[in-house]
Amino acid sequence: MGAFETATARRSLLKGLGALAVGTSLPAKAQQLLADPGIELHPLPRVVSKGAWSDLARAMTGDLVLPNDAYFGNYSQVNNLSYSQRPAAIARCVTDADVSACLKWAHNTNTPFAVRSGGHNYAGFSTTSGLLIDMSPMAKIKADGDRVIIGGGAINVAVYRALERMGRTITHGRCEGVGAAGFLLGGGIGFNMRLYGIGSDLLRSTDLMLASGEKVTASATEHAKLLWACQGGGGGNFGVNTSFTLQTFPVSTVTVFILTWSKNQERVLYDLLHRLQEAPPGFGCKISVTPPTPQQRAQGDDIVISVMGQAHQGTPPLKELFGTLLEQADPKRTIEIDMPYWEAQDILAEEALPYFYREQSVFLKTENLTEKAVADMIATARAMPGTSLPSSFKFFQVGGEVNKLKPTDTAFVHRGFDWLFSSEVNWWELRDPPSLVSDNLVWQQQFYDKVRRLTPSGGAYQNFPDPALKDWQSAYYAENYRDLQKVKVEVDPGSLFTFAQAIKPA
Ligand SMILES: Cc1cc2nc3c(=O)[nH]c(=O)nc-3n(C[C@H](O)[C@H](O)[C@H](O)COP(=O)(O)OP(=O)(O)OC[C@H]3O[C@@H](n4cnc5c(N)ncnc54)[C@H](O)[C@@H]3O)c2cc1C
Repeated sequence: MGAFETATARRSLLKGLGALAVGTSLPAKAQQLLADPGIELHPLPRVVSKGAWSDLARAMTGDLVLPNDAYFGNYSQVNNLSYSQRPAAIARCVTDADVSACLKWAHNTNTPFAVRSGGHNYAGFSTTSGLLIDMSPMAKIKADGDRVIIGGGAINVAVYRALERMGRTITHGRCEGVGAAGFLLGGGIGFNMRLYGIGSDLLRSTDLMLASGEKVTASATEHAKLLWACQGGGGGNFGVNTSFTLQTFPVSTVTVFILTWSKNQERVLYDLLHRLQEAPPGFGCKISVTPPTPQQRAQGDDIVISVMGQAHQGTPPLKELFGTLLEQADPKRTIEIDMPYWEAQDILAEEALPYFYREQSVFLKTENLTEKAVADMIATARAMPGTSLPSSFKFFQVGGEVNKLKPTDTAFVHRGFDWLFSSEVNWWELRDPPSLVSDNLVWQQQFYDKVRRLTPSGGAYQNFPDPALKDWQSAYYAENYRDLQKVKVEVDPGSLFTFAQAIKPA
């Protein structure tokens, strides 16, 4: 969004038009849960002259793609269809100078813009009706000794292949299409985090194009506070990151496992959360609790609990870590294999096709997950109305190296917790009627409000943004928000970079 229009004027325009592009077929209550109507989510479309687009096209080495061009649809695709929005044009940046040209042009023409790498933001923060600054062509990855330099537009799968060639790894996620930029800037959790820290803890330097069009390198020795802000301060706040340099670690063999239970859910979930808490840092896992869809329920199915993850060499055998839970797991659905690290990642990887979803998260401490609290979660899951798509609530195991840093050491404040809880509702607009989607979103909100009360200091993960979160500044950043605001003043005092939950200058 250009710097010249006031937020108030834009808001009243939006309200006047009753214009929220998000989930407009949904009842009002559900729309509010997807986006707070008091906050501008999608800047208003405005007319940009053909001449102005030509000026930008001529200033760039990469292509400027307009709606009637081939592949426009492919390039504008986002992962969460609740926030699909057609940009006026897509700038396919291939050089730093292209990014700089886009920023200057957007400022001079007062055209709203958004920066996108992998397009997997949960809440539509990389969508715009104006200029989409598409970083995906800037995806080169190269080894630099025991470090890796990742282009600002690279997606996970390319990072995996490059690291595999190096025989090394970082803390990475499982979804192949997620952009490295969004992943790292918002924190970056993955099965390796208990051993190495979260992805952004491994960030040693990053190049950025600032609102002024200037290029800077942020590292421990130059612009150190900007590096700090890029370690969990969230994408799209401080500039366009064109490369990331990270510490890497050698890989060997891991035990990859997937275990499933469909009986005694309360007991199993409680025991998993409390037993696995004791596991050493070489062990990383995610517990998923999946209620049946209405169709599955009609066939007599109940909640399924599963654990997937990996154990690095030197970790005690699964028999020891899971105890009797291992014998109780469904043998037909058990996977436990020792294999080379990168082959194991092929088993753990997921590629989520675009669909409609909403996710809400909070960090939890095991001590708050009492038998009563866990039983209540299972009872609430049984009461989920459900849609045609399965939805889960999940516990990502944190701890280990994640908690070795202090909350203020990087912008990622969430240290000292044991689990990241995240509840999702997935749906498909063509199959699930708006009233059913609405019932599910309301159910999800009530569930989330209850779980949040278990660990009131648990905040929320900024990489799983929730547009309905009223206290997002404290939930995502807590005591770090003020310092993030100071960095914002230094690099973008006019808030050229903005979106519904953007950091505001102090
Ligand atoms: C299926 C799925 C699986 C996921 N798995 C994990 C996981 O395992 N671990 C985890 O931590 N998170 C995970 N996430 C969350 C994910 O890390 C965040 O949504 C992340 O922000 C997505 O990054 P992106 O580049 O794909 O998204 P985008 O939508 O392209 O960008 C996300 C944000 O970063 C900004 N941005 C993008 N590129 C740049 C850039 N080059 N410079 C500056 N700002 C930029 C955008 O403007 C936007 O605000 C997952 C998300 C999905 C949908």
